[in-house]
Amino acid sequence: MLHDFRPQPTPAMRQSDPLNLLAMIFALLLCCSKPAAAQTCPTEDPAIDAAKSNKLFLYFPTVADSSYPAYDTNVSPVQPFDVASLSTGIGTTTQLIDSVLAIVVDDYCEFNVQVTSTTSNPNSGSGVPARRSTVAVGADNNGNAVDGYSWGETQLVNTGATTAVDYARVWAGTYVNCEGGVGPTVLTGGCSTTGSLTGANATLTHWAQAIGGTAAHEGGHTFGLIHQDDDPPDDPTGQAGTGPAPGEDAFNRHLMPTGYDLTGPDRADYRRHFSDNDYGILASNVGLSVETMHNWDLVNPNAESGYSLAIDFLSAKSSISIDWFYAGTQSPWLNPTVSGPSGTAVFQGTTYNKYRVTWSAGNPAWTNPSAGIVAGGAVFHIGTTFAGVDFNTPNPIIIQDVTLYDASSTALVLHPRLPSYDAGTLDGTTGDYSLHFNAPPGAPEMRLQSAAIFQLPRVATIDSMVDQGMPYSRDKQPIRPWSSSSCAAAALRGGATCRIANLSEAPHVANILRLGDPGVIDCSRGAATAAGNRANAPQDSTRVPDFEGPMCAGQQFDPFPSTTVYVIATFVDPDAKHYDPTKKTYVTGPVISRVFYQFAGTRKVAGRGQGFGGNSGSGSSTGSCTFCICAALLILGVLFLLLFWYLRKRNP
Ligand SMILES: [Zn+2]
Repeated sequence: MLHDFRPQPTPAMRQSDPLNLLAMIFALLLCCSKPAAAQTCPTEDPAIDAAKSNKLFLYFPTVADSSYPAYDTNVSPVQPFDVASLSTGIGTTTQLIDSVLAIVVDDYCEFNVQVTSTTSNPNSGSGVPARRSTVAVGADNNGNAVDGYSWGETQLVNTGATTAVDYARVWAGTYVNCEGGVGPTVLTGGCSTTGSLTGANATLTHWAQAIGGTAAHEGGHTFGLIHQDDDPPDDPTGQAGTGPAPGEDAFNRHLMPTGYDLTGPDRADYRRHFSDNDYGILASNVGLSVETMHNWDLVNPNAESGYSLAIDFLSAKSSISIDWFYAGTQSPWLNPTVSGPSGTAVFQGTTYNKYRVTWSAGNPAWTNPSAGIVAGGAVFHIGTTFAGVDFNTPNPIIIQDVTLYDASSTALVLHPRLPSYDAGTLDGTTGDYSLHFNAPPGAPEMRLQSAAIFQLPRVATIDSMVDQGMPYSRDKQPIRPWSSSSCAAAALRGGATCRIANLSEAPHVANILRLGDPGVIDCSRGAATAAGNRANAPQDSTRVPDFEGPMCAGQQFDPFPSTTVYVIATFVDPDAKHYDPTKKTYVTGPVISRVFYQFAGTRKVAGRGQGFGGNSGSGSSTGSCTFCICAALLILGVLFLLLFWYLRKRNP
């Protein structure tokens, strides 16, 4: 076995699986091993951030702005954002804005969404991006004790993110009057009065978590997210949702539940995050900022030490950047750099650009024998993530060669071995989606020994793609795969194919929003027309029910076959000359390399199965209904035939 976790194949089987216990133990170990430090987003690199094609502006006006779209009562003018109107002694307005921004940036880190803050209206002047969402945050409040309070409201839930421009509003001042709802089990609306933002709880962190959570929530609506993907299933007020997937944390740790379901402590005491359901829909609607992520266990086959390592690879992209790399204790180096393109090469009939990624900066945590040096015969681990100029489809890198260099930058004779592999291809005839492996040019006898394939609901952090490979998120939450499968052992000489999924398989997350359902409107003629109808838009509020709306009619699914595909594969070169550090001599025999590989699923695939969506927020599939009707008609037909036969027999 490659690993000691075996995620189960179907959602129905998850309930009773002992992996829930394993996941809890794992989460506990993670919590104990590291304090909940502030996270840093690896894609905050300015060049990568600027390339993100969806823009989310957090707009904190300094003066009342009546030019903001008045799509509902109290939305416009947006009143100034001023910390003095909210609390005292927690810091300056600028500090609060920066803290809110840091939270929302982190929430959207792994998505193709650039989050920025501004104190001037981002929708006027020159250079306004065509695709943008604006969340205007004022210190004013909206509501009263009799009618209820609202923390935020979006112009329209942008199903499928098909509308280019959307607006939302946050009333930070509402937190002065009402810190949160009273939770899902209370049949009437109201405010929780636990003092989560006052007294000792009046801190910059608490206020930033409350306002930042609401800003990220409203931003989520502008990219198509709906409450029902996060609402708890035991909500008795007519707004039950699917709740967390098995193995996930509780619904009130998530960003998109309806307003009254979240109490003051839920909003202020901790950071909430996107649930697995939200994550899949967002990945589909806006894309991920990470395309392919690679970690490798390699062996230095030489007796000499290696001082740097280069991987030559091919890519169809015209430019490539690294936004994330493995920095754990098993890597001799940190900070890999990519160079190229430098010319082209043909692989299997297609011309690609040539690139090189190099590791040479020593990792102080590496000890075999010391930072930046890998001993002869030693096993080591390196990893990197590649991003390109567009985030729409994962472009594979095709590994050509791996070279170790000595202290004077002369190549060592023997090379570590890695196969090449793609990011999955779809067979238009069968609908099969398969991964392909090829032997490296220098090791044609290499074999695939085993491979496990996991369909993940969210991006696993690169740190987790090592050892047993148990995936977890950047905020140390264990990730429960939607499904798992394996590949048969195979020779790579002529290429090996491993089937991952088929187009007919249902999405893991599905939202089908039909015209005629509460709050669902036709957005096909533009937001201005659609925004007129707010009959079912009681906002993100204490009121029950609290449908967010209007919601654009349409359907949205997670990427195909999942948000990301995670592969753990072992390859063996059976008769390779290599240095044996125990015998202190060269031997000929098997050399093993392991690949931990994660790549983004494909967004909005045409012709995809829409059957029994794993977590349908709204509606069911036409496919399954048709099947039910057919089955019922068939049974009725058989019964009629039996009745006819019986009557004929009785009265011949
Ligand atoms: Zn909402």
